[in-house]
Amino acid sequence: MPDDDSGQSAADGADPEDAFALVGNETRAAILRALGETPHEGVSFSDLRERVDPDIDSGQFNYHLSQLTGQFVDDDDEGYTLRAEGLALYRLIRAGTVNRRASVEPFEVGLDCYFCDAPVEGEYEDGTFELRCPDCEHMYSHAQFPPSTVETGDTSDLLDRVDQYNRHKMLAYARDVCPICVSPLDTEFVPGEDVWSEGSERFDVFVSTDCEHCGASHYMSVGLAVLYHPAVVAFFHDHGVDVTSVPHWELEWAMTDEYLTVRSTDPWEVALSVPAGDETLELVVDEELTVGARRS
Ligand SMILES: [Zn+2]
Ligand SMILES: [Zn+2]
Repeated sequence: MPDDDSGQSAADGADPEDAFALVGNETRAAILRALGETPHEGVSFSDLRERVDPDIDSGQFNYHLSQLTGQFVDDDDEGYTLRAEGLALYRLIRAGTVNRRASVEPFEVGLDCYFCDAPVEGEYEDGTFELRCPDCEHMYSHAQFPPSTVETGDTSDLLDRVDQYNRHKMLAYARDVCPICVSPLDTEFVPGEDVWSEGSERFDVFVSTDCEHCGASHYMSVGLAVLYHPAVVAFFHDHGVDVTSVPHWELEWAMTDEYLTVRSTDPWEVALSVPAGDETLELVVDEELTVGARRS
């Protein structure tokens, strides 16, 4: 067996490149797929071989299976099952993240641009969902989604799903946790003019988060960063609004800096006046995203 001369199993901290190489083979990919279909059920050698390819030579099948065992596959008394690493990979492939393409033509999302009044459009292409103003080009949202987001053919609740998924990622970024690799983040306030994004110069400030570990980075307004602060959720709740399910792009106070005043830049401190009914929630936010709140 060619790759087996080191005496070290792949489980002992394999190089990422080796992990890619392991699954770059039709039989090994088919094994992951077969085990992924029944993630909590051990499968015997003969049953697994039957599912993958009944015509494959037993020795050859055993070779490929042993290459995956330890890294992506577990083998115990119950049979073969996917390890967490194998399951994560299987789900990415099922979602089409690494192997499929889909697109959705621009469509109106029911929001007039806060800056020029043109109807804002949503579009999905090349793994990215964008909300953008077709006239002034202002970028409302730009995020990566797998093709499964749109290829089910059911787009009736597409915007709700996009909203909720964006919120879930923004919440993680705002709480200093990388939503991709679960590492701690570097977070800082940066002036809008320093950010590359169509229309970012219209903002005084962005909350910038970077993951040193996996390279993920994200910019969001201060309003979006404090969207789930208990004072904000409670304030809207008292006005009969569930602010956790309103599409976030409909919250003008969070999508523009019209309601924000910069109080100081060194260190950063901003005031945000959040309106609901005839009341205003006055927030003071520092660059640690510590929030002071008062209603008026
Ligand atoms: Zn516009
Ligand atoms: Zn990360």
